[in-house]
Amino acid sequence: MLRFFNTLTRSVHEFQPLEEGKVRMYICGPTVWNFAHIGNFRTFIFGDILRRYLKYKGYDVTHVFNLTDIDDRIINEAAKAGVTIDEFTAPFIKAFWEDFDALGMERPEVTPRATHHVPEMIAIIQKLIENGHAYESDGSIYYRITAFPEYGKLSRIKFDGNITGGSDRIDTDKYDKEDARDFALWKLVGETEEPGWDAEFGRGRPGWHIECSAMSMKYLGETFDLHAGGQDLQFPHHENEIAQSEGATGKLFAKYWIHSEFLKIDDVTMSKSKGNFFTFRDLREQGYSPLAIRYLLLSVPTRKQLNFTFEGLQAAESTVERLRNFRQLVSEAKCDAGANPFIDSSANKALVEFEAAMDDDFNTAAALAAIHNLVREINTHMADEMLLERDRELVLDAISRFDSVFGIFGKEDSEFLDNDIETLIEERNEARRSRNFARSDEIRDELAAKGIILKDTKDGVRWKRA
Ligand SMILES: [Zn+2]
Repeated sequence: MLRFFNTLTRSVHEFQPLEEGKVRMYICGPTVWNFAHIGNFRTFIFGDILRRYLKYKGYDVTHVFNLTDIDDRIINEAAKAGVTIDEFTAPFIKAFWEDFDALGMERPEVTPRATHHVPEMIAIIQKLIENGHAYESDGSIYYRITAFPEYGKLSRIKFDGNITGGSDRIDTDKYDKEDARDFALWKLVGETEEPGWDAEFGRGRPGWHIECSAMSMKYLGETFDLHAGGQDLQFPHHENEIAQSEGATGKLFAKYWIHSEFLKIDDVTMSKSKGNFFTFRDLREQGYSPLAIRYLLLSVPTRKQLNFTFEGLQAAESTVERLRNFRQLVSEAKCDAGANPFIDSSANKALVEFEAAMDDDFNTAAALAAIHNLVREINTHMADEMLLERDRELVLDAISRFDSVFGIFGKEDSEFLDNDIETLIEERNEARRSRNFARSDEIRDELAAKGIILKDTKDGVRWKRA
């Protein structure tokens, strides 16, 4: 029985989807103005584990994961570079999906972009204006918090003392709002050069929060099962999503909310100014493997803070290598026919423990312990030559079940396809163009380890299997 902590109720409940056997879930995706950092990826990898585990439990999952491809930073950076918004975001969107795939995440069913859903946002804003939940001021449209008495039910932030009509404003919005807490749904652009969309209430652009209300309800319905995202989004972003959606529909927006805690680097908050800010690409350039990065980011349960250290990453590198070697060893072991009852029970116990851990608020640390215990026990049996043919199947089957959720064993060498080889060769070419010879050599070694031989010719790089 799957139970987890729901931020909305502040308690642990048994998961009961709205429709039997189906889960409709939404996770806030990246703002594509830059490369995503490892804190972002911690949340996204949790989203991947969440969807995979729900599938493991037999649910039919519809997972919507948005890209925010319009906001003030994107508009400013695009203007500075003298390109359109689409031109500015295209390379970051491409890079994001490359990183996403490299980290072994399954692509969500729907990956909508904000700029492709402006009419849906306009429709919600129109509804909010009509039912008194929104108003116009200086051409822009604001959400009227006083019209939604439940405001604050997710974040439980107490606003007493902060509510103000005049002097001590809590933000610096230049337009007049009825209440300092009111937030923009639509920013007036008018006839300026700035990017904008035509709406009945004036040419403008959407606020950030309205994007997620529009994209989630479009693909999942007005009420859906599960909404997740980083802890930093709980307020105001998620609180505002609830206010907008429930204000427009009068119905519950999302039944369960899950928030991923922050990631720190050596116990310090990650920030560019402190020089401890890492994108996935930074770690790749330092030679760390995507599998190890994935392992480290999922090894701590999502509601606990994760302290990222390079020693931890190095250890994760050895762990995933040990896991891969173990699987290989079991696959290639010379086994006599028959079955050893000890192994049957070890494999079963490991699967039961794995599932019990995941059912307990997605305790990934305990689930990993179940995998490591099995590896230890089977290694002992193999050393005693007690692994028989039927046992081998049971162990490999258990591994593939764990890995359908965690994705930490990586591909088997036989799954290492031409495509992957071409991708690595392209990455090596890129490394050489940017004179990163360390990375280029590393890729050559990585390929050599898989029996792929590279030959540099005047027509480019040729490869063959040894
Ligand atoms: Zn969102």
